Amino acid sequence: MTEILYYPENEYQKEFDAEVQKKDEEKNYIVLDQTLFYKQGGGQPADHGKISWGEGKAEIADVQKDNGEIRHFIEGDMPEEGAEIHGEIYWERRYKHMKMHTAQHIVSKIVLDEYDATTAGNQIHADRSRIDFEPADFNEEDLEKIEEKTNQIISEDIELNKSEVARDKLEEKTESGRTNLDLIPDHIDPLRAVEIGEIDICPCGGTHVDSTGELGEFRIVERKTKGADVERIEFVLE
Ligand SMILES: [Zn+2]
Repeated sequence: MTEILYYPENEYQKEFDAEVQKKDEEKNYIVLDQTLFYKQGGGQPADHGKISWGEGKAEIADVQKDNGEIRHFIEGDMPEEGAEIHGEIYWERRYKHMKMHTAQHIVSKIVLDEYDATTAGNQIHADRSRIDFEPADFNEEDLEKIEEKTNQIISEDIELNKSEVARDKLEEKTESGRTNLDLIPDHIDPLRAVEIGEIDICPCGGTHVDSTGELGEFRIVERKTKGADVERIEFVLE
């Protein structure tokens, strides 16, 4: 098992040391004893970055969890099993993901409260992200209201708290419709909880900023109807 170094609240560390536990030359990946690299999941892309060891260096082009392993896919030379590597995540990209992901939590909460619509899916990108809501049918006025309420929370510079919480306790605290806890395997306990002040709490394994003031200005750039009851909004942070 790879220890995940950014849990539960260590999301600003950019560099780390680790030992290579496994090397798969056919598929071009390594497994580390610990990592800062975010593995793709929950609508957030994998971190990219670089590793170095002795005389060697390589790029980390993708990180995926597969077969119980966190696989770091390599471009370039591969370190041997047992090698001590130094890793560095490409921070500019990761930090954008942290901001986008935090914005997604805020918008999901606002839309649940205002329109009783749940988040059916989301995809974060560094430059532009999207959330699907269901059931929803937004008009221009609704979109303006969502923008305004999101920017209000950003301007209040509200602190986030990330911690490990016992599953039953977090289930109790999470608002109905905020997230589908059934999708998280039963054996995962405690869960990582992400709280935005008193506004929102939900389980999440992604990466987020420490305070909403870091986000910049939230703007919805597109609305699309995706099927009978599903509305997609696309947003940027400026
Ligand atoms: Zn999250």
